[in-house]
Amino acid sequence: MVILGSHCSMKAPKFLLGSVQEALSYGANALMIYTGPPQNTLRKPVEALKIQEAMQLMKTHGIPAENMIVHAPYIINLGNSVKQETYQLGVDFLKNEIQRVKEIGAKYLVLHPGSHTIAPFEDGMNQIIQGLNEVLCEEDDVIICLETMSGKGSEVGFTFEQIQTMIENTKLSHKLGVCLDTCHIHDAGYDVSSFDQILNEFDRIIGLDRLKVIHVNDSKNVQGAKKDRHANLGEGHIGFDALCKVVHHPKLEHVIKILETPWIGDEAPYKIEIEMLKNKVYDPSALDALRK
Ligand code: ZN
Ligand code: FE
Ligand code: FE
Repeated sequence: MVILGSHCSMKAPKFLLGSVQEALSYGANALMIYTGPPQNTLRKPVEALKIQEAMQLMKTHGIPAENMIVHAPYIINLGNSVKQETYQLGVDFLKNEIQRVKEIGAKYLVLHPGSHTIAPFEDGMNQIIQGLNEVLCEEDDVIICLETMSGKGSEVGFTFEQIQTMIENTKLSHKLGVCLDTCHIHDAGYDVSSFDQILNEFDRIIGLDRLKVIHVNDSKNVQGAKKDRHANLGEGHIGFDALCKVVHHPKLEHVIKILETPWIGDEAPYKIEIEMLKNKVYDPSALDALRK
């Protein structure tokens, strides 16, 4: 059975319990959450998050705890070698975030590796590696999944080679996995319609066993545009058929797939998109109906 879900909200008063309920309402058996606002590092104490109730509800539905993915806030930048405070904020926050992921009972923490800002690319790369070495620790059985980036701005990690450089140079590399984002790799120049070729390349350069999470998104821009603007399934330049193949790829059955497609007005598209992927049938009118 395909492991498929979406980004879900996490807010008062039900917090994680509400997130799991939201996922179930989409027909999902996986979900991804932020432990607080993605644009800042203010976090509620984990005791307030209704973890037990959330995990119990997942269990009742036969969903393993590791199918709940945590995404680190995108303001974290381990690649900043120019502003020491920004780098240090990232390190400190990530250390705490790893503890939160542990306490929640989740396993995978998705992280945007970072941006080199005005410094040379190499400096950013080295700073990211130093950061990973600072935050990872043998006792924590949390896996940080480095996300493949689109290459917008000064992002580091938009090729498989760059991701592998990070993995290779991190001491506790067995604590690292990869999150492959279809919109990001398309924007970085990969051809998602030749996905077998992409997987071969991934396997040759990184190793397929590192792949833990896939972000399933269409892209508003052409291949190689380096923009990172997600589109709803079938409404972008990747197309429904290519994305459906990714989701149902026989080599990726154990990989957790998460939709991060945009909301349509104030409606989440996930129930419809999950159903289309499960049925392997594209129904543009179903998404259009949300626009009315
Ligand atoms: Zn991400
Ligand atoms: Fe993503
Ligand atoms: Fe993105």
